[in-house]
Amino acid sequence: MERKQLAPGSRLVVASHNPGKVWEIKELIVPYGFDAVSAGNLDLAEPEETEPTFEGNARLKALAAANGSGLPALADDSGLEIDALGGAPGIYSARWAGPGKDFGLAMQLVHDALAEKGAWEGLPPRANFISVLCLAWPTGEHRLFEGRVYGTLRWPPRGGNGFGYDPIFVPDGETQTFGEMEPSAKYAISHRTRAFEAFKRDCLEHVKRDGTVAKTGLEVEALDAAARNLSTQAELARFIESLRDDLSHNGTAWKASDLAAFLRSLEQAAAATDVPDAEPRWRTLARLLFAASR
Ligand code: IMP
Repeated sequence: MERKQLAPGSRLVVASHNPGKVWEIKELIVPYGFDAVSAGNLDLAEPEETEPTFEGNARLKALAAANGSGLPALADDSGLEIDALGGAPGIYSARWAGPGKDFGLAMQLVHDALAEKGAWEGLPPRANFISVLCLAWPTGEHRLFEGRVYGTLRWPPRGGNGFGYDPIFVPDGETQTFGEMEPSAKYAISHRTRAFEAFKRDCLEHVKRDGTVAKTGLEVEALDAAARNLSTQAELARFIESLRDDLSHNGTAWKASDLAAFLRSLEQAAAATDVPDAEPRWRTLARLLFAASR
């Protein structure tokens, strides 16, 4: 069966009443010739998040907005998962902050729950942020996209940037918390960006390939950021796909675009790159591949 795609020029409902999220998604899709309207502007009610998973809640919100508007709709659900707490706060990440949305309180609860398990002794506790996006059509068809960023937790909280649990989360390969990092540095590697990248590759890039929008190639900074921050085998596979895509759209910018030259360049990168012991091996491979291309 043919995969459903967004038709060029479509209007998309962003299933959120949060103006920040609506703006972020609008910024992403407008360059591709799509337009976005928020669920709030269409007076659509915000459904209660009753599902036990991020996927379930993203789907529930996207389907409610698609049904209510008759338009394709995009929703997201995100949170912090802590290994030593069995994935908590997870889907309850916002709810741990209470009705006053007090994230000082939520971070204190995280601290106390980890202290009770002795998880602050030894290596810092491992955690990841996760973002799940769902694109749904009024017919009920839908697609899910996931992004994660892995790291460790710190106490006490540090930094005044970002929001939510940012001041206690240090992404792998960095020394600063998300709360201390420049917003652009956080955005380059965040779980939300990674989920958006997957959505973009699957639902927006076809517009470029059809020639409706000029072929610009993938942004070098995005590839560089992915190479410096990815952590898993699946992310490496997606990175290689993006690199291949970049070669076909943007080959003239490559230092070595035939195989022999590329292997020579890879050899030089492997000899010259200083790899920290703790770096995940998938990331090392991605960094070498990226270095060899440019
Ligand atoms: P929701 O996706 O709007 O339901 O929000 C989930 C909650 O997860 C937020 O209120 C934050 O507590 C947390 N969260 C999601 N993404 C981030 C992030 O990038 N930094 C810090 N906290 C986050």
